[in-house]
Amino acid sequence: MAKALIIVDVQNDFCEGGSLAVAGGAAVASSLAAVLGNGAASAGFDTVVATQDWHIDPGSHFAAEPDFQHSWPVHCVAGTPGAALHPGLDPVVHSIDAFVRKGRYEDAYSGFQGRALTAHEAVGTPEPAPGEALPGAPLAEWLRGRGVDSVVVAGIATDFCVKATALDAAREGFEVSVAAGLTAAVHPDGVSAVLEELRAAGVRVDD
Ligand SMILES: [Zn+2]
Repeated sequence: MAKALIIVDVQNDFCEGGSLAVAGGAAVASSLAAVLGNGAASAGFDTVVATQDWHIDPGSHFAAEPDFQHSWPVHCVAGTPGAALHPGLDPVVHSIDAFVRKGRYEDAYSGFQGRALTAHEAVGTPEPAPGEALPGAPLAEWLRGRGVDSVVVAGIATDFCVKATALDAAREGFEVSVAAGLTAAVHPDGVSAVLEELRAAGVRVDD
């Protein structure tokens, strides 16, 4: 059986200088690049996927006066530089087998709400109109199709999309660990409670 690395939302808008910057985001990108520097297989992964918040019209997910819990400044608009992966990942982008886009017309914290596209498909696929079928395969189906039974989750933000992705992975029946040292949080004060919640759901938390 196979092991996957799920890189969650390491996108320009979530890193320093972005519209919804999370302190430590750029460092997560460079740390992940170091982990994958000798190839995914050397790091123990059979496959690597990267999720992307990818908004067209996500309704009340965007707000002029966001509360930073349920509503947010405009971020990760589909096809804009803010939605692109952080350049810190450039050295290892060839190791990413699928780009998992989520949240076109809704909020979508979990990567399991997204669908996987290859690098080629990610460039060549037109965006669907509201109500049209979304391109790509649901993430859980895509992973199972590659024999994946175990996933490691890392990225941004620990307390939102990393958490939601890890919890959904556990619900989907994958063996899950979160590489906490390869994440960055919106609200760092709340991270210990988040990690407890993950452990309670059967997720292993590594440094
Ligand atoms: Zn979003």
